Amino acid sequence: MSAQDCLFCKIVAGDIPCTKVYEDEWVLAFDDIAPHMPVHTLVVPKAHYDSIADDVPAEVLARVFAAVPEVARIKGVNASGFRTLANTGQDACQTVGHLHVHVLGGAPMNSGNPSL
Ligand code: AMP
Ligand code: ZN
Repeated sequence: MSAQDCLFCKIVAGDIPCTKVYEDEWVLAFDDIAPHMPVHTLVVPKAHYDSIADDVPAEVLARVFAAVPEVARIKGVNASGFRTLANTGQDACQTVGHLHVHVLGGAPMNSGNPSL
């Protein structure tokens, strides 16, 4: 997918609104529009990559994951725990083709298969 047609690129650009949770030079985090949990926030790199399998530079991955505990602190789930998940490709039902990490929490989750 080209960055021009990408929903999350449009959110990063400010062309589509979001409920922003955290932002730095590298990443934006915003609440999921259809939350599966009381806390459901997405962390995306500001640059476009289709998925985690898209030859993403290690620094970009590091910046995305470095934002996760910050998001967890802001959302108040750092102590209670949270799940971090990145759907990649068709079999994993990735629906938005811009790399993103889900941060889920705020209530106990099933153990085992962490599929949404
Ligand atoms: P995935 O299925 O892993 O690709 O996750 C995509 C996520 O993006 C889903 O949980 C959607 O609810 C979420 N989503 C889709 N559109 C928006 C939007 N405009 N703002 C926030 N989250 C969105
Ligand atoms: Zn994009």
